[in-house]
Amino acid sequence: MKIFFDFFQIFFPTRCPYCEKIIISDRNMCNVCVEKILSKDLIRGFKIRNCNFLCLSSFLYNNRVKEAVWRYKFSGKKDYAKSFAKNLIVSFSTKFSFSDFDFVTNVPISKKRLKERGYDQAKILAQEFSAITQIRYKDFLKKDIDNMPQHTLNVTERKTNTRDVYSLKTSAILNGRKILIVDDVVTSGNTFGECVFVLKKGGASFVFALSLASARCVEV
Ligand SMILES: [Zn+2]
Repeated sequence: MKIFFDFFQIFFPTRCPYCEKIIISDRNMCNVCVEKILSKDLIRGFKIRNCNFLCLSSFLYNNRVKEAVWRYKFSGKKDYAKSFAKNLIVSFSTKFSFSDFDFVTNVPISKKRLKERGYDQAKILAQEFSAITQIRYKDFLKKDIDNMPQHTLNVTERKTNTRDVYSLKTSAILNGRKILIVDDVVTSGNTFGECVFVLKKGGASFVFALSLASARCVEV
């Protein structure tokens, strides 16, 4: 098995998602990026639809992080998920224990977007997070409406664009559960907010949001 793994590493080496240099397979980023991308462990508070929640992000959404997330979402680099999940766990572990949550879930994408992209980037990230932390993964939510991408809209448009586009899957049983919800980037908080609203309405006792990066919302 080890020989197979060594061959695999020769042909498909692990790369730092933030600069694409080859790294040791159990690392989540290279030493240069550790120096250049300082971990922020940024906590932001949001109130969406009278629903208060907090979001913890590992990094600010700029430079190398922004480029890495774009490659992850739009250039098929879904293998970055493992490294991203390790970054999330470093941040998460400064605030919580793994036993503080019953389930980890994700902000879902629409069926149309899934067909175009071939994968749900937040779902893979949440599943990698679950595999390492052993917090059970469950896809509680579905996206019913293929709305406009949030990054193409201004502050006001973002609020209405996400309204009522998510719902609970019929299999979701949330009574009293503590849920961690994962996405790649938080900006206005409206997308997370809608999902938190649906999860709490469905019976979750506590919902906390976790994203790799945090961006400030700008007018477009
Ligand atoms: Zn790097």
